[in-house]
Amino acid sequence: MSEAPPAGVLTIDLDAIVRNFRLLAERVLPVDCAAVVKADAYGLGMAEVAAALARAECRSFFVAQLGEGVGLRKILRRAKSSATIYVLNGLMENERALYEAHDLVPCLNDLGQLESWATFCRARGQALACALQIDTGMNRLGFPPADLNRLAGEPKRLVGVDLCLVFSHLACSDEADHPMNRRQLGRFRAALDRLPHCRASLAASSGMFLGREFLFNTVRAGVALYGGNPTPNAPNPMEQVVQLQGKILQVRDVDRGETVGYGATHRLTRPCRIATVGVGYADGFLRSLSNRGSAAIGGVTAPIVGRVSMDLLTLDVSAAAPELARPGAMVELIGPSRGIDDVAAEAGTIPYEILTALGPRYERRYTGGAASSE
Ligand SMILES: *Cc1c(COP(=O)(O)O)cnc(C)c1O
Repeated sequence: MSEAPPAGVLTIDLDAIVRNFRLLAERVLPVDCAAVVKADAYGLGMAEVAAALARAECRSFFVAQLGEGVGLRKILRRAKSSATIYVLNGLMENERALYEAHDLVPCLNDLGQLESWATFCRARGQALACALQIDTGMNRLGFPPADLNRLAGEPKRLVGVDLCLVFSHLACSDEADHPMNRRQLGRFRAALDRLPHCRASLAASSGMFLGREFLFNTVRAGVALYGGNPTPNAPNPMEQVVQLQGKILQVRDVDRGETVGYGATHRLTRPCRIATVGVGYADGFLRSLSNRGSAAIGGVTAPIVGRVSMDLLTLDVSAAAPELARPGAMVELIGPSRGIDDVAAEAGTIPYEILTALGPRYERRYTGGAASSE
């Protein structure tokens, strides 16, 4: 980006991510805690986040795509880490050499992918590491029941590969009482019984809080590392990681009866002071926050009035101190008084989407992470 002062500043606390990792890792001991850093570490920057986690002795990482895995391997090499990298989205035939070259573990999602990897291993004369994803009810990725049945009946299909993890993914782990959790646990145990003995993993962030029987050998922590609440119906045990500040560009006094913004969706019922902030939906500040979200200025809540537009949003700052609500001042859009879970609830979505939507126009400032500024 240019040297021009930014209209939004995103501050990412790497030490908070490391503390969240340690909290989860200690909670699940002696089970291993892996870090999920797909989608650029949920939008927070894979290079910085993965390097900080590697320094905190994180030994396994998950990404979604092969390209992410290739990038992560370079980051980990620089950080002098030889951690395992799992690629969730599965194996295409023309990708096998890249998996090997970058020491990545493919998560195989059906018999065809297993056959392809086994053939590759035989041709290389080497049992290369792989993981199996078992579909236990998500119906998204992983061995479907028919493929699992065939594999259980023909265990020779695993000869020549180094099977290092069998895992599945829970559909409803954020709802502790949902019957799907027990059903998937049962199906996962049944699958493990029919496969050669191997390390196993079922829980992501929320699954870790369902009880020790969900932990198996490895848990896959994602959103909780980044401050999202893994127990949505209880207080958030995680530390907030992200702060987002937006700059006030202009302030105006508007009469009662006037409307604000596109569509004239907000009509003032009394005279108000309106501050226009240089952050909009092009920055990932979702349009669904129109007339719903709010910002904080010096401890005072300033509601979003009118629609969020592409580059701008408008706040009712009538209650804020005038010396704080002035052009050039920064308002808190995400931070101590409004966490990512709050913003997600106001936007009608989940914290995952708030994080991964955070746009490229913000100035990104990283704090902590122990000498991370290479
Ligand atoms: C994204 C993902 C995770 C991490 O989930 P969180 O809820 O963010 O902890 C774990 N496992 C799989 C298979 C995933 O796709």
